[in-house]
Amino acid sequence: MISASPVLRVAVPSPLRQLFDYLPPAGLPASDLLPGIRLRVPFGRRDVIGVLVEVARQSELSPAQLKPATTVLDTTPVLTPSLLGLVRWAADYYQHSLGEAVQQALPVLLRKGEPAEALVSGWRLSVRGGGLPAGALRRSPRQAAALAALQAQPVVTEQQLASLGLRREHLRALVDKGLAEACQVPAAAASLQPAAPPGASLTLNPDQAAARAAIEADLGRFRCHLLEGVTGSGKTEVYLQLIESVLARGRQVLVLVPEIGLTPQTLARFQARFAVPIALLHSGLSERERLAAWRAARSGQAPLILGTRSAVFTPCPELGLIIVDEEHDASLKQQDGFRYHARDVAIKRAADSGIPIVLGSATPSLETLHNAISGRYGHQLLRERAANAQPPALRLIDIRNAPLRDGLGAAAIAAIGSTLAANGQVLVFLNRRGFAPTLLCHDCGWIAECHHCDARLTVHAGERRLRCHHCGWQQPLPARCGGCHGPALEFRGPGTERLEGALKELFSDFPVVRIDRDTTQRKGAFDQLLAPVHAGEPAILVGTQMLAKGHHFPAVTLVVMVDIDGGLFSADFRGPERMGQLVTQVAGRAGRGDRAGEVLIQTHYPDHPLLTTLVGAGYRPYAEQLLAERQALGLPPFTYLALVRADARELAAAEQALADLRTQLEPGAVEAVGPVPAPMSRRAGMFRAQLLLRASQRASLHRALAAVAPALSALTGGSRVRLSVDIDPIDLS
Ligand code: ADP
Ligand code: ZN
Ligand code: ZN
Repeated sequence: MISASPVLRVAVPSPLRQLFDYLPPAGLPASDLLPGIRLRVPFGRRDVIGVLVEVARQSELSPAQLKPATTVLDTTPVLTPSLLGLVRWAADYYQHSLGEAVQQALPVLLRKGEPAEALVSGWRLSVRGGGLPAGALRRSPRQAAALAALQAQPVVTEQQLASLGLRREHLRALVDKGLAEACQVPAAAASLQPAAPPGASLTLNPDQAAARAAIEADLGRFRCHLLEGVTGSGKTEVYLQLIESVLARGRQVLVLVPEIGLTPQTLARFQARFAVPIALLHSGLSERERLAAWRAARSGQAPLILGTRSAVFTPCPELGLIIVDEEHDASLKQQDGFRYHARDVAIKRAADSGIPIVLGSATPSLETLHNAISGRYGHQLLRERAANAQPPALRLIDIRNAPLRDGLGAAAIAAIGSTLAANGQVLVFLNRRGFAPTLLCHDCGWIAECHHCDARLTVHAGERRLRCHHCGWQQPLPARCGGCHGPALEFRGPGTERLEGALKELFSDFPVVRIDRDTTQRKGAFDQLLAPVHAGEPAILVGTQMLAKGHHFPAVTLVVMVDIDGGLFSADFRGPERMGQLVTQVAGRAGRGDRAGEVLIQTHYPDHPLLTTLVGAGYRPYAEQLLAERQALGLPPFTYLALVRADARELAAAEQALADLRTQLEPGAVEAVGPVPAPMSRRAGMFRAQLLLRASQRASLHRALAAVAPALSALTGGSRVRLSVDIDPIDLS
């Protein structure tokens, strides 16, 4: 029998791609419950917190099978109708369970049941107190004043005590007499203090002014704009002035940045410009701070919301503009579980809200560039560096046959020496942390490999350990070869730790600062390490891509790139795109002050056509060359991809699961490549295989996936093989 009374369709935290039906809690009519509120519901043997998605007229299940929800946690939705719609769209688009997607869209403390509104303690009249006449308690003037205050307003909060000339003990005396009772009420708005008085904005150069005008002309309607300009061309200044206009119209602005792009420097610039509370949302904050920021955005108290990936789901009732800075950055895409791309979700949100969105980058992704060139997006170009700084000169250094000192050739060492002698700073870039990427036996050729991954172990000399950078496995550095037990072990290849040591020996009079994941784990380490660099004295910075983002190093006049060749020959078709972006971004760190910068790129392939284009003509022609290749090969953005991954204890099982899935695909709708072992075929003890689906239309790709969705979730539930789908994958490893 089908249940005929209204049922609640709830998204519960479960990988199953379906909603679950519940009855309303006893005594509460379903019509009182709004979609987007949180409910506590029984699920299996536990109680979990889910979000009400819709109230349906009936259920497929019989009334006897339906359980009532235990508690209702909200009166107003934590996911507004438009946000709930966005999350539903994203769960659908990225082929993920709505229950898990909803969780990701909420701050952790809300997932755990904290109230959505901030509560403060206060006091109100009890029933007995309400029966007293005005002017009662005349013998105790303070208590009489407290009573009068309670009679004059529904609640007296802790914060109001002082302004009413009262103290806590006066209210407590009333409680003791049974005349008042303690209570919790939503915090009043405006408890966030505005920052410093607003700073003045700069006079925009003609390109900046044109970009601002073009985007402002679209305020109030949806349009996507690419704001393209090299590092230092004044993109941030354009953002700031756009924000100013939107705030002046009483609307909110959401600014998304990559994880490591949100530096204290960036934040300080926003704070210095606007006298408004800023809701800050990133992973360096405590859960409590994140919830406070979420509340400030939702109440409209904070008109400016600045955050990383998941901030795209922050409720903003008056949203007027979205900005995605460094839109090409891979950290905007979540790489496990709910694999959404915050930039693309933001574009959908802007479209739903009828507002413009600005994608900023010095090195736009090929997807975005393609949309801009084809006219689908507005394209605002900043052609010069804003503050008269000269663009850096890039030069390839041929290191074939050249003797290297821990990865550095003679030309690089000489250039570093003369830059320091001229009081300049140097940035040495190598995207590989640790001392050496390989431990090799010179006698028998044995190489130290991870027991759990298809990968080599990295030597960390300072701590005398071998570490796997893929699964975290580590062991003490062995004294003897794991194959022949001989002593002839060698460290092959440089890592940042090794470079740091070499540079300290070569240039012992100067500070050498290493910035990578190993040196910056401690909170605040980044700023502490960078203090001598920001002081402007001659110094050497050595580090990984952490150096490529956000930070300004105005005194750096020389950049040395130790080894970028890997990007040219990557198994991933996005390798060259990423390499070009990284080289350009790192190069952009040089010469931001009044001194021109120089960039030396060591390579074994000085004649490689991609490298010569990048160095000779710059990122844009390089990217156009890559786009032409992608078009010829039928790769994104000219086609659409989905990657189905399978993880299992045996490779054969993973491949079989994908082969089965492949047979269920409608013939002809999509092209399937695989199953094949993943480029890294084993990781953290699991074998990995993949099936790549390609279609010339987004819609046919999604139709094909929808058809195999039941098979996908059947295999996810407790089977030996774990399947996952990655839509628009950006990492094919
Ligand atoms: P980007 O975000 O493109 O890297 P920024 O906005 O940070 O560029 O600008 C680089 C530098 O130039 C900053 O120091 C900024 O204050 C300065 N700047 C930007 N626009 C102007 C302008 N119109 N006039 C003078 N200086 C500017
Ligand atoms: Zn490993
Ligand atoms: Zn050996």
